[in-house]
Amino acid sequence: MTDGKIVVPNSTDTGSAPSTASMIDPYGRMVSYLRVSVTDRCDFRCVYCMAEDMTFLPKRELLTLEELDRLCTAFIDKGVRKLRLTGGEPLVRKNIMSLIRSLGRHLETGALEELTITTNGSQLSRFANELYECGVRRINVSIDTLDAEKFKTVTRWGDLGKVMDGIRAAKEAGLQVKINMVALKDVNEHEISTMLEWCHQHGHDLTLIETMPLGEIEGDRTDQYLPLSTVRTRLSEQFTLTNIPYKTGGPARYYAVEETGGRLGFITPMTHNFCETCNRVRVTCTGQLYMCLGQDDMADLRAPLRASEGNEILNKAIDEAIGRKPKGHDFIIDRNSKQPAVSRHMSVTGG
Ligand code: SAM
Ligand code: SF4
Repeated sequence: MTDGKIVVPNSTDTGSAPSTASMIDPYGRMVSYLRVSVTDRCDFRCVYCMAEDMTFLPKRELLTLEELDRLCTAFIDKGVRKLRLTGGEPLVRKNIMSLIRSLGRHLETGALEELTITTNGSQLSRFANELYECGVRRINVSIDTLDAEKFKTVTRWGDLGKVMDGIRAAKEAGLQVKINMVALKDVNEHEISTMLEWCHQHGHDLTLIETMPLGEIEGDRTDQYLPLSTVRTRLSEQFTLTNIPYKTGGPARYYAVEETGGRLGFITPMTHNFCETCNRVRVTCTGQLYMCLGQDDMADLRAPLRASEGNEILNKAIDEAIGRKPKGHDFIIDRNSKQPAVSRHMSVTGG
């Protein structure tokens, strides 16, 4: 980065002559969806995600915005059609809009079908219009409760009013907003139908997520875990849920809600193993490629990226890694062991 603008070298400079070898893993799944965590930092401290006194990575460890651009472009050359920027909070990374604007060129050429972000919404008022200008059309915003006091308790540092302003700005800018809600035992479990009605009244799909045992937090994860099978049974007493084949490329299974006319998604890594159709890989802000959110195996792409200006070494490293993509995860929330199943936080690999 120099002055906040990304200078994109032409493909002969980077040697990124398309390596057309698609990414097909040992189980025949084609990888077409990349999630990139652009920072591990965040302006919230959600209780299930981080400890309040989180230690973040030193800035020098991070890929520069140019490197992130080059890495994403290499993946697009190898068949990625859907790119989601996440974090940490993606919109708190300095000059992040220059990366988003630059990646938008792949939408214009048609190489990329969708460029999107997952955000906590705190900075959306500022960035909504620009996101739309860059070609972003759908975003995910995470809200676990509509109660301002409780929102403060769950996020520790968040302000629900600001997030709501951000969502309004996003809608006005023309962005479609999907709400993500992590289902938390005792915390928001009795607000799920209220959230569903609010979302559908305002034209947002809602996706419910089970807590996953990622990284050390203060407290006990078994206290937070609420199986979505229970939630669905409860919701079925109040709403008519019909399984629909709607897909966004992600792991959610969707239902149409007859009474509200909206869609409800469930992401159930714990109660239902969704791995068999997994088309995703994740890159961290330091350039580590995780082939599975729920496994520790990873490939370092920062060294191959920096090893040469061309992408040959990088592409080889990507191919080797995809060749080891595991069949599935081994998440268990274990009452006996207080250790998380995977030691890194969600904010490192991105949600
Ligand atoms: N900061 C942004 C946000 O909150 O949307 C993007 C990153 S956040 C890690 C992405 C998603 O992961 C959010 O919807 C968040 O609620 C979810 N998440 C974080 N930690 C989680 C965990 N341990 N289990 C399940 N979902 C988690
Ligand atoms: Fe930040 Fe998102 Fe984690 Fe909350 S869930 S602490 S907003 S990264």
